[in-house]
Amino acid sequence: MKILNYINGSLMDPIGSGQMENIEPATGLVYGSIPRSMNEDVAIAVEAAEKAFPSWSSLNQNERAKYLFAIADGIKARFEEFVAAESKDNGKPISLARAVDIPRAISNFKHFGHAITQFSSESHSMPGLAINYTLRQPIGVVGCISPWNLPIYLFSWKIAPALAAGNCVIAKPSEVTPLTAYLLAEVCKEVGLPDGVLNILHGTGPEVGDAIVSHPKIKAISFTGGTTTGKIIAAKAAPMFKKLSLELGGKNPNIIFADCDYDEMLTTTVRSSFANQGQICLCGSRIIVEDKIYDKFVRDFREKISAMAVGDPQDNATKMGALVSKSHMEKVLSYIDIAKDEGGKIETGGQQIHMNGRCAQGYFVQPTVITGLDINARCNQEEIFGPVVTITPFSSIEEALSIANGVVYGLSCTIWTNNIKRAHNLAAKIEAGVVWINCWLLRDLRTPFGGMKASGVGREGGLEVLRFFTEAKNVCVKL
Ligand code: NAD
Repeated sequence: MKILNYINGSLMDPIGSGQMENIEPATGLVYGSIPRSMNEDVAIAVEAAEKAFPSWSSLNQNERAKYLFAIADGIKARFEEFVAAESKDNGKPISLARAVDIPRAISNFKHFGHAITQFSSESHSMPGLAINYTLRQPIGVVGCISPWNLPIYLFSWKIAPALAAGNCVIAKPSEVTPLTAYLLAEVCKEVGLPDGVLNILHGTGPEVGDAIVSHPKIKAISFTGGTTTGKIIAAKAAPMFKKLSLELGGKNPNIIFADCDYDEMLTTTVRSSFANQGQICLCGSRIIVEDKIYDKFVRDFREKISAMAVGDPQDNATKMGALVSKSHMEKVLSYIDIAKDEGGKIETGGQQIHMNGRCAQGYFVQPTVITGLDINARCNQEEIFGPVVTITPFSSIEEALSIANGVVYGLSCTIWTNNIKRAHNLAAKIEAGVVWINCWLLRDLRTPFGGMKASGVGREGGLEVLRFFTEAKNVCVKL
């Protein structure tokens, strides 16, 4: 399948006509091509977006919301096509794409369509002297860059609020998973989104991604991806005074106390460790367990994980699919070797899986559980972003907190306990943007989302993300 850029309302090849291969991770086979866009493609997209901006930004909120609802309905109408594309491109189980990714992309467009109609701003009265009011206006042309792990889910989490707030968008999905973004472009054409309002460009980060970040007329960048890339983008955008939102990597702790609801904790911990093959930024990759139940937990967890079947992502019964690419699989396997060198014990997993049939050349790794590592070991400090978790015991709350906060990252944390006081006290001290108590991955879209420390800046939720995509201006009127 040949993927095209979506610029000024048209599907087109890149100007330089460069193409890259699109590989299905479950088979290791090329199944299509992706445009390799460059500076000149960004230049025409920005020109189109600038042209579209005056009329798009002056539509009233209800009119813009109608387009967002139409896009949501357009995705819904092609639901199974999106599901199949997301699974094929990413290697994720088709059941996960059906249950999470595509419904969430639909919700993102609906949520921000509704949210913009409720968006308001403040007024501050100086009695007898003046009234100040805050005017929140769209920024202009903005850039949205997203990663491969939740392709359309995260792409739409950026695009929907940016459009709702009245901006025109230059968006780049990951070159590793471009297919659902291409389907989204088709939906935008089908629903008649005005030309130039949304432009979707494909290609590599250092080429078209960098061109988006560097373009002087793109005034804000919303980026989700790795911390190293975030640093490069921040260094480039800061001297240009661009507005920046960075949602970056994580090394999330999952703190388990002996008094938790054990069975519920165990079931959820399997999911929070290995959903999407551990390739969700919010997966708990460091399990920290109270010493009283440590041995029991390791035994029970190992038993559950060693029974997990890894299979063809396109099979409806599969719960664990392929890793996203060969290079990512090699990175994950290299960390398992590092863990062995650092004295870790592989409780289960640890190997690449060679499947039969259609998936013989695919990128599969056994879900892997490691114990016995020092808290400063690389596998306890660096983001692996795959089906690899470590387990470490603790004997006091202070120790649990120190292990949990003892990394550069601060994205999310899960706490399992029935001691409410302890849970709330700990939640306040954990250095993470999201803390779950006795659950995982539940979130009301109106709440702030994002990381602390090296996991990012600019936590945003419902109305706050709309604020990110606006310029606030104070107007002071003398009475
Ligand atoms: P990545 O940083 O390699 O790439 C992300 C996006 O940035 C891609 O579209 C890529 O092409 C682009 N890019 C790369 N170099 C660029 C550059 N120099 N200029 C502009 N754009 C550039 O990340 P990835 O491997 O696609 O995704 C995995 C990472 O994303 C993990 O670290 C994961 O934790 C993180 N992530 C974070 C969140 C969050 O909400 N905090 C969510 C999902 C994923």
